[in-house]
Amino acid sequence: MKRALIAGMLVLTGACATSAPVPPVATAPVPADTQPLRTRHAVRPVPTSNAFRAAIERGTRTADGRPGPNYWQQRIAYRIEAELDPVTARLSGAETIVYHNNSPDTLREMRFMLYQNAFAPGVQRVRRVPMTGGTRLERVAVEGQQAREGRMLTGPLTYVVDGTQMRLSLPRALPPGGSTTVQIAWSQAVPPRGAPRTGHAENEAFVVAQWYPQVAVYDDVNGWHALPYWTNGEFYLEYADFDVTLTLPEGWLVDATGVLQNADDVLPGPVRARVARALAQDSIVNVVTENDVDEGAATERAPGGHLEWRFVARDVRDFAFATSNRYMWDAARAILPDAHGDGRPDTVLVSALYRPQFAAWREAAHYTRHAVTFHAERWHPYIYPKVTSAEGPIGGMEYPMFVFIGSPSDSIALYSVISHEVAHQWYPMMVGSNESRYAWQDEGLVTYIEDLSVDDIFPGLDPALASQRAYLRIAGSDIEGEIMRAPDLFGIGPQYGVAAYTKPGTLLRALAGVIGEDRVQEGLRMYAERWLLKHPTPWDFFATLEAAAGRDLDWFWHPWYYETATLDHAVANVQQGTNGAEVVIEDLGDAPMPVLLRITLADGTIVDHELPVEPWLEGHTRQVLRVEGHVARIEIDPGQWFPDVQRNNNVWSSGAQ
Ligand SMILES: [Zn+2]
Repeated sequence: MKRALIAGMLVLTGACATSAPVPPVATAPVPADTQPLRTRHAVRPVPTSNAFRAAIERGTRTADGRPGPNYWQQRIAYRIEAELDPVTARLSGAETIVYHNNSPDTLREMRFMLYQNAFAPGVQRVRRVPMTGGTRLERVAVEGQQAREGRMLTGPLTYVVDGTQMRLSLPRALPPGGSTTVQIAWSQAVPPRGAPRTGHAENEAFVVAQWYPQVAVYDDVNGWHALPYWTNGEFYLEYADFDVTLTLPEGWLVDATGVLQNADDVLPGPVRARVARALAQDSIVNVVTENDVDEGAATERAPGGHLEWRFVARDVRDFAFATSNRYMWDAARAILPDAHGDGRPDTVLVSALYRPQFAAWREAAHYTRHAVTFHAERWHPYIYPKVTSAEGPIGGMEYPMFVFIGSPSDSIALYSVISHEVAHQWYPMMVGSNESRYAWQDEGLVTYIEDLSVDDIFPGLDPALASQRAYLRIAGSDIEGEIMRAPDLFGIGPQYGVAAYTKPGTLLRALAGVIGEDRVQEGLRMYAERWLLKHPTPWDFFATLEAAAGRDLDWFWHPWYYETATLDHAVANVQQGTNGAEVVIEDLGDAPMPVLLRITLADGTIVDHELPVEPWLEGHTRQVLRVEGHVARIEIDPGQWFPDVQRNNNVWSSGAQ
């Protein structure tokens, strides 16, 4: 359909130049004629959902991308005690959840996520996963009153499990401003290698996540978040405080989201002294060495053979942990921009946990520190007190203050994945978008900022061009899917990776080609500032970037985010006369963009000139430019800011004629 439109396009000719020449080399756009043109590029407003428009009317959101005066968010406190048996990989836990209803609605039920049921037979999912049987609920109670399992929510104090979701009817309706307490006891197996985002490597290194029954998000736009966990889409999470005690056999080093509260009980004196040293100087300290591991000196010894590790975290959207009896631990401090308003830089504890056989990991603490520093200096100060990279069976996954990383053999791959996951501390950890519905809103932003950080530490690799090429390989093909689609609804192959990661990453770079890199990055900062610890929708993001750009960008969002339109600019013709040249630029694509031109004259003078996007939006397919002097070469977008699907028509040179 797109190609047929191009075949029938109108050609704009015969216009004459009236604008004054612009020194040093005069270039003048030829005004478009007034004949009616096809409407292929007519600007379509970004479509918002009814629910989002209603939120604007209620004043919880605004049309300009900021939280509204009536914005609210639910608040949760989790107290969890859990024990992991590394031999059987069995994890059992009991939690008390205090849920505070800040919404203006009276709630008669609560909804929960039981992610581990994605590994139970008969549950819907889109990936091949190892089977563990899922979560076994031992007890569900509200304010001490036991609830019973049912097939439907019949009356108060019943709960229904449906795949990865659970609904629980409350004994009394929870009014606006009210709180309730839910107790759940459960057990499950941590899945072996091969599960997404959590698992253990041969019962030796455990990276544990999606491990506790979790209250689903209830937000101002859609109410209860009703998407099940189908294993491709990730998470939408409420901000909460956590107080977690984890019981492991002695010799199993544990780290987690949150600050360790009882180091004296679990870490030997020499290990604690080395952590203190890491926080007092700039070099990296080997806090637990291979020697310590071999001698059983990584943890304290316990009378009963088990240690309890207590971690506390505030204002986080999730809680993950890692443990191994083979972990070494490198630590360093990062001195970061002030996040707490006391005017002094923040000292953050950076850790890398890894087993001795992964030699590339000796650089991991250094890489983690580079990444957290790079991102903290650019997007928003880092609000958490620590960041840990933990080696294990998961290639790369982000949790608050904590990332799971696999074991790539080369440094560039290791840095790239560490920086990617650490960048997620900003989007979506501190800026809590809905990953399960709009994966691009964190993965696309993170691809863009990861590429910038890789360029900073390994200059010359040009990772942004690699991202652009990944998108271009399927751009406009039947494999491509639009960015706004929900992540569990993509097909096989590179479709999801392109729509969630490389294409939206590439588009931020393309937007930088339109409004300037500083404006795009200012937009990401504004977005973080406005939506820190809140729940932005795509429309909040679009409007915030427009605020940073100082202009409407619906013409950009619609074809690029809602469609699979592609860009193809071409030098159609160059006519050299005695007084100058007439250059014809043609738009063969269906995603309108301005044209970034580099004009080289015969005397070597180089002029960069931009043709506006507006004539394309009006339906024209050609723009004509007059250039004073003798043109030697014309090149469209020499910096490759834009993902042009056909670059071989972007260059004209007189030598080739
Ligand atoms: Zn990611």
